[in-house]
Amino acid sequence: MMLEKYIYASLTWPEVNEAVAADRLVIMPTGMTEQHGPHLPLDVDVRLCTEVCHRAAERLAGEALVTPPVSFGYAPHQMDFPGSLGVDAQAFVDYTLGVTMSLVHHGFRHILLVNGHGSNWPFVETVARLTIVRSEGKAMCAALNYWGLGRVRAAAQRVLESGEPVPSHAGEFETSLYLAVNPEGVNMAAAGRGWPGDEPIGTDYLAGPDGDMVAYVPFWSTMYKVGIKGDATKGTREKGEVLLEAAVSGLAELARRFRAMPLPARVDHH
Ligand SMILES: [Zn+2]
Repeated sequence: MMLEKYIYASLTWPEVNEAVAADRLVIMPTGMTEQHGPHLPLDVDVRLCTEVCHRAAERLAGEALVTPPVSFGYAPHQMDFPGSLGVDAQAFVDYTLGVTMSLVHHGFRHILLVNGHGSNWPFVETVARLTIVRSEGKAMCAALNYWGLGRVRAAAQRVLESGEPVPSHAGEFETSLYLAVNPEGVNMAAAGRGWPGDEPIGTDYLAGPDGDMVAYVPFWSTMYKVGIKGDATKGTREKGEVLLEAAVSGLAELARRFRAMPLPARVDHH
């Protein structure tokens, strides 16, 4: 097998056996096809996390494979805006778990889910946990949001000017990254603001009396007029390149460490 071949779908079946024998890590991007304001296309979440995974795997020559992405995720709260293609939570878990368990069946032992759509998160985490349980501990499966990488958070702190929370939605963070990955797909003339500014018209978190964070996700159209949370007008390609490099190097490092972790031995204390 070519050392640099990291696209899972490009392997032949004998090459899959070689990849299992080499104990390659399998990286699986999970995204969503959904509205990202009037200035970005629907593929932002899929494209950004897949790009980060591919670039990281390229640096991990021979250590990792990247599966095709899960392109339809969980976002019923976005359906007041045209374009979003989602599935319900249970379907997302079942479908994604079907793929991770297929990888386990073929013999892979390290699976890393890299999520690019915020509302997928509780279900992506569930899939990672269920993969370990259903495989009876024969495989390790971990999950992260690419913007949760420490290097991305640090880079965002350095380069973002709007003060929007990361990753927001179609704001300065995602607009900058998308400009770095596919500038032809961005119409900056239509970029707007949803935080801070004259929007939002509602909020998607509740801060309790002691600054408590309480989960609360109402329909998006009750909060944001044009589907943007953040300040897309501040997005630039230069910022995106800094954020992208942080994500790629952070993921490559984390993936290398995860792959090096041996399968932990269970102890039955009955
Ligand atoms: Zn997004």
